[in-house]
Amino acid sequence: MSRIDLHLHTTHSDGSLPPAGVLALAKQAGVSALAITDHDIVDGIPEAIKIGADLGIEVIPGIEISSRWGDAELHILGYFLDWKDQALNRRLEQVRTGRHRRNPQIIEKLNALGLALTYQEVQELAGTESVGRPHIARVLMQKGYVQSAKEAFDRYLAEGAAAYVPRELPDPAEAIAWLRAARGIPVLAHPVWAKQDEAGLLKLCEKLKSEGLMGIEVHYSTHKPQQTKDYLNIATRLDLLVTGGSDFHGVTKPDIEVGIGRGGLKVPSKLLEPLRKAATTS
Ligand SMILES: [Zn+2]
Ligand SMILES: [Zn+2]
Repeated sequence: MSRIDLHLHTTHSDGSLPPAGVLALAKQAGVSALAITDHDIVDGIPEAIKIGADLGIEVIPGIEISSRWGDAELHILGYFLDWKDQALNRRLEQVRTGRHRRNPQIIEKLNALGLALTYQEVQELAGTESVGRPHIARVLMQKGYVQSAKEAFDRYLAEGAAAYVPRELPDPAEAIAWLRAARGIPVLAHPVWAKQDEAGLLKLCEKLKSEGLMGIEVHYSTHKPQQTKDYLNIATRLDLLVTGGSDFHGVTKPDIEVGIGRGGLKVPSKLLEPLRKAATTS
């Protein structure tokens, strides 16, 4: 029985290899079908499909969308999506930048710290639609609150500093809805990230299913055997599709290999047909 790998990253997000490099490794590992699932971007898909056709590997269009659930980040994988869908691409663009809502929040925090500036002043200085933290730093310099952009970042704007605002992310329900609207199959990635025990995770998956979730990533490079069993149980109880993948990133996760994860991963190719069937009937 051949293996598949439905969770792979390339240089189009935070992976270190381009699609061609990932596909070459997949070929070596005996992977018969795979999905490129870059974070919040679909740009690697056409290239991967083309190379896959040459290598005899089926490439399923995929993506991984980051979302926020309380203090946890939940990642929603999407499969067989219409990656050219314009609404989806507009939404992904928003997730990637997230700036238009983040900047005023940074200004509010600075105001609360006693620094008098308005977002309008920052926009005027920037003179572009693409306003970012460097522009805020320059207004702080002009007003004499800091001596340099470095000081502005160190004291206020860098991650962990006084006026830092994390990147805004959609709710899991939004990410799921976006994928469904683009005829994709939403799947909860690496369920361990939800930081729940089995009962808590079951409840979460029930809620996500009511919001359109269709699958759960049961097989994953770092899942322990008991976790794989628990997630499989949840999938069976809730009638969710089962998927799996390595989450290969290249040099940033050097212990994870395409197709085999840390060596013990084997995602059976028989999981693909139910996924494909769901894609054509949903
Ligand atoms: Zn992830
Ligand atoms: Zn991933």
